[in-house]
Amino acid sequence: MRLLEDAGCPLFTREDGKVFPQSLRSTDVRDTLLKLVINKGHHVQYHSRIVKVEKADHGFTLYDSNGIEYSTAKLILAAGGAAYPQTGSDGSGYDLAKQLGHSILDPKPALAAVKIRSFGSFRECAGITLPRTSLKLGKQMMQGDLLITHLGFSGPLILDNSYRMQPSARIGLVFDAAGRFVDLVKQHPRKQLSSILQLLDIPHRLSEAILQHCGGVQLPSSRALRQRQKSPGRMAEARGV
Ligand SMILES: Cc1cc2nc3c(=O)[nH]c(=O)nc-3n(C[C@H](O)[C@H](O)[C@H](O)COP(=O)(O)OP(=O)(O)OC[C@H]3O[C@@H](n4cnc5c(N)ncnc54)[C@H](O)[C@@H]3O)c2cc1C
Repeated sequence: MRLLEDAGCPLFTREDGKVFPQSLRSTDVRDTLLKLVINKGHHVQYHSRIVKVEKADHGFTLYDSNGIEYSTAKLILAAGGAAYPQTGSDGSGYDLAKQLGHSILDPKPALAAVKIRSFGSFRECAGITLPRTSLKLGKQMMQGDLLITHLGFSGPLILDNSYRMQPSARIGLVFDAAGRFVDLVKQHPRKQLSSILQLLDIPHRLSEAILQHCGGVQLPSSRALRQRQKSPGRMAEARGV
């Protein structure tokens, strides 16, 4: 952080510990780093994809896809991961590391949105954000802001925790962590379930989707709900793809 600030790119730290340039422009970070490199007299070679690397007597020999050969005494391999191939970070760095004799642990997705199999009526809820929602994954509970997308879930709660999820993992969303649902049903025995869900600050579109989703199975009567004191917080479960 000091490196960037001393080079003229002031930063700020958000409550969640994430750091941003004060300008909120990522290009300011890129330009500052580039300026530091160029000011030190280094050359940046663009449009050159390294396809092969060999250990040589003097250091290393690299070959790019245009057939150009480079020699260097020292080599820092910083080819990113495989998360965003359009930027050139397509996982070829793993192959280069292997060519030099390194072993590679199987990469796992992280900072990713999740797709939900059979998302059905919840597609209509794309764009809804739910602040401070709880997510249940196995025995673990996490909290954060959730964004509903056309295909599943995103937002900080999912991006920060998707590395813990396996394909086909079952995730639970707890909309009523305080367990108010049963009490509200008791207090308002004549209210529609959709209205009770809205009392829990669940947006109208989402409460409609939850009820539509439950439509395949018989909705519990309000008397049954009044008796169902156990696990009142669990409202919805989804299986990721
Ligand atoms: C969608 C998305 C959003 C993100 N948002 C944020 C955010 O808001 N804040 C944050 O801090 N982080 C964010 N990240 C993470 C951040 O982008 C990465 O952690 C960071 O860029 C990793 O830096 P790096 O230098 O290791 O790799 P990269 O930034 O991936 O750089 C690797 C470079 O190597 C080049 N390269 C790869 N293979 C070769 C090859 N064979 N020959 C020549 N060149 C090659 C690539 O073209 C690339 O320029 C985000 C990531 C993604 C995918």
